[in-house]
Amino acid sequence: MQIHCTYCGAPLNISRKVAEAALEKLYAEDLAYYEVRCPKCRKMNKIPREVLLRAVPNWKPPAQAED
Ligand SMILES: [Zn+2]
Repeated sequence: MQIHCTYCGAPLNISRKVAEAALEKLYAEDLAYYEVRCPKCRKMNKIPREVLLRAVPNWKPPAQAED
């Protein structure tokens, strides 16, 4: 998946592996966004869950431990 930096428009590549790891982190920490630093302008870009899910359409949240 490729997105563009909000600030300078540089392309940011999000591999499937990165997107999966990002989704796991978002669910584990209950965050709405995953932050990626732009290599060009060094600013943090917030990537919403739904955008990451588009990169990994069959990803499922880990089962919640309930007791
Ligand atoms: Zn940038």
